[in-house]
Amino acid sequence: MQVAVVTVGDELLAGDTVNTNAAWLCEELTARGVSVERVTTVPDRVADIARVVNEYHAEYDAVVVTGGLGPTHDDVTMESVAAAFGRSLERNADAEEWLETNGGYSAADLVEGTTDLPAGSRMLPNDEGVAPGAVVGSVYVLPGVPGEMKAMFARVADEFAGERTHVRFVHTSEPESSLIERFEAVQSAFDVTVGSYPGDHVRIKLAGADEETVESAAAWLEARVDLYEE
Ligand code: ATP
Ligand code: MG
Repeated sequence: MQVAVVTVGDELLAGDTVNTNAAWLCEELTARGVSVERVTTVPDRVADIARVVNEYHAEYDAVVVTGGLGPTHDDVTMESVAAAFGRSLERNADAEEWLETNGGYSAADLVEGTTDLPAGSRMLPNDEGVAPGAVVGSVYVLPGVPGEMKAMFARVADEFAGERTHVRFVHTSEPESSLIERFEAVQSAFDVTVGSYPGDHVRIKLAGADEETVESAAAWLEARVDLYEE
């Protein structure tokens, strides 16, 4: 399963807010065996959001969009997703009912527009806040507030699946440039992919479909590199 993540918000592009939602979603999706193919951040602008959602909807099995929900004037994500599908925004009866039953709101208390979702979408309740999310086709629209986003993702997490990969890290004190031949050797000896992440030391990431193979590859490498000690 191939998925694209779209995070919405001027504050992300200005650097005022660190895009923790993107990293969190990538980690969660990858852990489920999903291949995350794109992460794109767009401003709070209907044309930009709609264009990216439309393109990724055509290209990938699912799209996860976060940020810009709710009824305030700068929250245009639902309107944009509706536009991407050529649908209108409509008051969603399931959302109203859920907020009345679970949120203690009466429909009359809610700020105008709170329960507006693209026509024909599946409503996702917001366990940690007010603004509901939605699933339109294979586009999942979640809130931007990290706690709300995570709780809502939990409701749909099972809809994201793929072949699980096993991952193991080997930490070395050697420089990346000296490791290339051993990376090639471990990849030809075992059915794994190798990634290396330099930082204060190099983290070597081994990944593969079979756990035993990944462990054997890790043991093979651990016997052949200078291990990093914390
Ligand atoms: P609300 O209904 O409260 O307006 P929302 O879904 O509209 O929620 P935003 O308005 O986009 O969400 O953002 C709400 C808060 O969540 C802001 O403080 C924002 O900085 C933060 N936020 C939004 N997107 C992200 C993100 N990608 N990573 C981390 N924080 C985020
Ligand atoms: Mg908002």
